[in-house]
Amino acid sequence: MARPTFATIHADALRHNLAVLRAVAPASRLMAVVKADGYGHGLERVARSLSSADAFGVASLSDAERLRAAGHEHPIVLLSGFDAPEDLPRMSQLSVQTVVHDANQLEMLGQATALAAPIRCWLKVDTGMHRLGFAPEEVREAHSRLEAMPSVDAEVVLMTHFASSDALPASTADDGQTRAQLNAFAASTEGLAGPRSLANSAAVLGWPQSHGDWIRPGGALFGMSVVAGSPGAAFGLRPAMTLGTRLLAVKRIRRGERVGYGGAWTCPEDMPIGVAAIGYGDGYPRLAPAGTPALVDGRPARVIGRVSMDLMTLDLRDCPAAVAGAPVTLWGTGLPIETVAESAGTIAYELSCSVTRRVRFIDD
Ligand code: PLP
Repeated sequence: MARPTFATIHADALRHNLAVLRAVAPASRLMAVVKADGYGHGLERVARSLSSADAFGVASLSDAERLRAAGHEHPIVLLSGFDAPEDLPRMSQLSVQTVVHDANQLEMLGQATALAAPIRCWLKVDTGMHRLGFAPEEVREAHSRLEAMPSVDAEVVLMTHFASSDALPASTADDGQTRAQLNAFAASTEGLAGPRSLANSAAVLGWPQSHGDWIRPGGALFGMSVVAGSPGAAFGLRPAMTLGTRLLAVKRIRRGERVGYGGAWTCPEDMPIGVAAIGYGDGYPRLAPAGTPALVDGRPARVIGRVSMDLMTLDLRDCPAAVAGAPVTLWGTGLPIETVAESAGTIAYELSCSVTRRVRFIDD
């Protein structure tokens, strides 16, 4: 018997979320960030649903190759850049664009010869996140070097990435970091030619002054929360993934009995529990503590005991009519992934990226 565990991917939600983001930033072009296999939703199906995007952002050349093999002719940008000169001819041949974030890459681009066509570059400024990018004082020189290279397209895009844009402008959690990054970007790129790109999902929704020429949303396209404390639904976004399974067994357990590995949970009263056919081997977080919400027959249930590899147990006191075979939703339609992520001490992005290959993906 096939395991009844599935991830349904809602194409209409992806299209809807893209439309929501376009409406928020109508003057900007939209790069759909689909790295990590489309945030775990499946690169090809996601790209198909988001084919009205103006470009795709990926983390590796192999992802770009998959998109080209699927027939997408969009601009594709390597968001982590490239790290070997051997990649350049292939990038040029496939018309793949790249982020350029350090001096080594300038060297490699400067020495590249006999490319099929010049490569379009996105010059990344490290305005304060201190991950990838040129320091603000290095940007002018890097820009003029790129502009002068025959291997590089004449128009260089200027970009940066925010560290804390999920904290809204009014929030003390932001501590002025996004504003400081905006100012550092404006100062370091002032007067330089080329389109601007700053905004990830949270900045698209919360920082309109960052929209620029290209917005780069990822998580919001999948309906996921991008602003601290607000689920995606608060912005009119819809979940693109529903993770579900069925109950394999329902039993009544007596008060004082302990459930699961380590006997980590004790029944406070005589009660029904359900055993669901999903566990950390499917990507459900093992660290989800007792109390993490789920739905059984569309009614609220809660994790009890430790999540194991193939199975987990649920408190069915609020769904007393549930029987073996009842549908279980772990997140998605009816139960925001953010709520589950918060309970498990992580973020929604990590949950969707963690769904494993043995889970059946269903196109909805
Ligand atoms: N731009 C860059 C450079 C990124 O690395 C990412 C993802 O981390 C994004 C945009 C999209 O971010 P988000 O998924 O928060 O919208």
